[in-house]
Amino acid sequence: MANETNNFAELISHCKEYGYIFQSSEIYDGLAAVYDYGQNGAQLKKNIRDYWWKSMTQMHDNIVGIDAAIFMHPTTWKASGHVDNFSDPMIDNKDSNKRYRVDHLIEGFAEEQLAIGNEQLSKDILVSMDELLAKDDYAGLKQLIEDNKIKCAISKTCNWTDVRQFNLMFSTEFGATASADDENSKVYLRPETAQGIFVNFLNVQKTGRMKIPFGIAQTGKAFRNEIVARQFIFRMREFEQMEMQFFIRPGTQMEWYNFWSAERKKWHESMGIPAEKLRFHDHVKLAHYADAAMDIEFEFPFGWKELEGIHSRTDFDLKQHQEYSKKKIQYFDNDIDAATNKPYGNYTPFVVETSVGLDRLFLTIISLAYAEEKWLKEDGTEDSRVVLKIPAKIAPTKLAILPLLKKDGLPEIAKELMDDCKSSFMCFYEEKDAIGKRYRRMDAIGTPFCVTIDHQTKEDNTVTIRYRDTMTQERIALSDVKKLIMEKIN
Ligand code: ATP
Repeated sequence: MANETNNFAELISHCKEYGYIFQSSEIYDGLAAVYDYGQNGAQLKKNIRDYWWKSMTQMHDNIVGIDAAIFMHPTTWKASGHVDNFSDPMIDNKDSNKRYRVDHLIEGFAEEQLAIGNEQLSKDILVSMDELLAKDDYAGLKQLIEDNKIKCAISKTCNWTDVRQFNLMFSTEFGATASADDENSKVYLRPETAQGIFVNFLNVQKTGRMKIPFGIAQTGKAFRNEIVARQFIFRMREFEQMEMQFFIRPGTQMEWYNFWSAERKKWHESMGIPAEKLRFHDHVKLAHYADAAMDIEFEFPFGWKELEGIHSRTDFDLKQHQEYSKKKIQYFDNDIDAATNKPYGNYTPFVVETSVGLDRLFLTIISLAYAEEKWLKEDGTEDSRVVLKIPAKIAPTKLAILPLLKKDGLPEIAKELMDDCKSSFMCFYEEKDAIGKRYRRMDAIGTPFCVTIDHQTKEDNTVTIRYRDTMTQERIALSDVKKLIMEKIN
């Protein structure tokens, strides 16, 4: 079969060339770490989001979905701890004035060491970094950078400032009379969607008559003023999260934490991500709200990185909102506790959260799908193609309908098929160019099925269906096309 290679720089330009992802405001030279999704990208993103939404809210009868606003009362972020704690340790190079996230700087150095065969040093430095981060030992982190002579990529010097904390939230002014220096009118662009769920806990629980354990799911934009934003859509300043907060009885959190970690990994595999490209990574340093946390990591083209976070958030958030809002946020559990033979009664629920970045998942899917293939034809000459092998159930366009010629009644038959199929799934119609060229374009866009209408169709009502991944073709009845595609995409 075809000889495959996978190249990240090529993937980025492919995403642009085929309407998947554009740099934001590109005509003004772009805005760093902000991206726009084009006609195919927006549809793929929607399909991934819908798949997540359906598996959370439709496939679990105890999970419901909401859509909270991006703007929230500023006290939300004081209560959640983001005003005081949502920061990363940073270091500046005094010669280039370039700012780095300390963990990224050290990880980059460790990767370089690994690449040149210094495996032990690479491992040791990461272990030391984790220990220092866990202790918030900033002087120690600076020492580690200096001892290893880690240099700035721009100035190539080791002339570093001290390590400092830098808050990642964006803020803006609210209301017509607001001014930039008026602290009272300052609102934040949410850095995570989760808080919209916590502040609506009682609204949803009461109006939905939800019984613990139950979950609230949400997808939406989040904003972080990331310092080092790189690796394409992996780390953006404006991105989208898909989060689910699962409310549980105190004391059961480890059981649910293990359940959701396994469940989420299985879900990623159901999206076509091979199990060997996914792994769990336990956090050494826990966030201020968590009693257990792990990442589901994916092996991106640039290494193993976080795709999704699973966090046991205790009752921290609900308790904080109760304290800051002065409103009681509790649940009355009338199930009988076997130990006391009495109802569990009133308590603040604990929370296990699953939080995945939609853009990171998009990058996962597209980097797995991208392949440059070469093979020898029967006459001994070489042929090649670039193909996006996106799983059919989430591919932006499912079926391309291609009349072989622009005449002889073939377009009419093709358009009839298009009318029959387009309310059930996304179709694309094209009559320009030679058929081979059209197939290649559909491969590059990732359309899993092409149907060609030719003169034989007029005689026996059959069409040629071509499968993207194998490039094989077969003749099927025109009347079976819709049913066959429906089977393949469900
Ligand atoms: P990282 O360590 O990579 O900064 P994080 O631990 O801060 O991520 P969480 O706060 O747990 O991330 O957010 C949950 C998910 O949201 C992440 O697993 C990731 O998929 C996504 N995410 C977080 N920050 C970004 C970003 N800047 N750009 C794109 N996706 C992001």
